[in-house]
Amino acid sequence: MSRLEVEPKVSPEAERSDVVASSGPTCAVCGGPRALRRREACSDKCRAELSRRRQKDALRARYSEIRALLATALKKLDEGAP
Ligand SMILES: [Zn+2]
Repeated sequence: MSRLEVEPKVSPEAERSDVVASSGPTCAVCGGPRALRRREACSDKCRAELSRRRQKDALRARYSEIRALLATALKKLDEGAP
């Protein structure tokens, strides 16, 4: 059997339009297709994962906020140091 090297003639534009054409609503967690009636995730499992990520993000945002406040406080202390 001979192997012919055939380069797929797909331009970036064509590829993109293909993606756009086939892009329906997708799950925010697994990236798979989801039903229109489902809001962000395709399944209960993915929705649970999504809310877990949200909580993590919220916690991270809170920590970085506190860190920034502490940094500001330390700066103020330095400024006011005798
Ligand atoms: Zn999913």
